[in-house]
Amino acid sequence: MTTNADLFARACKTIPGGVNSPVRAFRSVGGTPRFIRRASGPYVWDAEGRQYIDYVGSWGPAILGHAHPDVVRAVQEAAVDGLSFGAPTEAEIVLAETLVARLPALEQVRLVSSGTEATMSAIRLARGYTGRPKLIKFEGCYHGHADSLLVKAGSGLLTFGNPTSAGVPPEFVAHTVVLDYNDLDGVRRTFAELGEEIACVIVEPMPGNMNLIKPAPGFLEGLRELCTEHGAVLIFDEVMTGFRVGPQGVQGLTGIRPDLVTLGKVIGGGMPVGAFGGRADIMAQVAPLGPVYQAGTLSGNPVAVAAGLATLALIAAPGFYERLGEQTDKLVRGLRERAELVGVPFSADAVGGMFGLYFSERVPASYAEVTRSDIEAFKVFFQACLAQGVYFAPSAYEAGFVSITHDDAVIARTLDVAEHALHTVKG
Ligand code: PLP
Repeated sequence: MTTNADLFARACKTIPGGVNSPVRAFRSVGGTPRFIRRASGPYVWDAEGRQYIDYVGSWGPAILGHAHPDVVRAVQEAAVDGLSFGAPTEAEIVLAETLVARLPALEQVRLVSSGTEATMSAIRLARGYTGRPKLIKFEGCYHGHADSLLVKAGSGLLTFGNPTSAGVPPEFVAHTVVLDYNDLDGVRRTFAELGEEIACVIVEPMPGNMNLIKPAPGFLEGLRELCTEHGAVLIFDEVMTGFRVGPQGVQGLTGIRPDLVTLGKVIGGGMPVGAFGGRADIMAQVAPLGPVYQAGTLSGNPVAVAAGLATLALIAAPGFYERLGEQTDKLVRGLRERAELVGVPFSADAVGGMFGLYFSERVPASYAEVTRSDIEAFKVFFQACLAQGVYFAPSAYEAGFVSITHDDAVIARTLDVAEHALHTVKG
């Protein structure tokens, strides 16, 4: 039998680090990555034939569970008619119409092939629209790997960020201001100082890339007000939260209207689709209408669009989000109860089909608080769960995802495994 270890050793010869995206290499938890052979519903199976209950869900897209038959059929049918045309199709219009109809902040939308492309394009658009150079982002929020976004905070307020990746010259992030999430005063002071130069604020409105963090009351409202007051563009990066935390993303949960929104993950149903959109007057600046260039050979790819449309149709079923939220709540409530029973400091939080697990007494409210949770305890928990067939995200800084196929039996099995793992943590 070919083992995961065999495949990893082989992969490392031709693929840097053996993976095509770094977190997959298990570096922050140790051990051998599982090479997935197939997936169905809430389960994935690795190269050794072992089954796992999956809470990664392809990092968000698999909201219907893996390989939903309707989505697979839609992909197969689209593929028969051709894989890519480089010309417009009616299905793209339907996807655009669906997104515009469902998300309050969207008047027009452009399809791309990844979340990174969506945020990179939205920022270029905000800069082109305002004629200003600077952007504000928040520590711990991830918006993909465009150069100007690979940056961490400098040593003090109003210092510009430092690149977090080699290959990004400091000049490339010289216009990126990095502030603390949930610190509205910091944003206020930055606007007071640099308001005329700030093109946009980009924010994960409920971050899932420093584990799950919720916005403090008034934080998102404050961003909206400050952007309006200073003529800056407010970008909600809903690549993760869009159609995940509820039928209208965070904009639906809060009633706040960003000027631009970025999307990905769920809207492609597991195929490569991203999107950016928002106010029609801003979107009118995008080529070919306006001077902001943006393009893509595979943008609006017919097979990917078919997967997205099938997914969006299924998640519109009455009661879908109620059920998804209930199952996620059962998971986090159960985990909290088991941790209390075992006596391990632990907290958990959820919104819609997204959750966070923290080895800390309280749910963290900032990146700094997340970094103070017990990362070693997480690693032990992760490995013990994996050994018993439950696959959580292989990092203490990632949110988890529940699908509509995570039924009561799946959650109950997860909780039993987790209790066992918590005993291991306790030692
Ligand atoms: N924005 C957010 C909020 C994300 O979570 C991600 C990916 O995890 C991205 C952007 C980048 O998306 P992609 O990996 O599709 O490029």
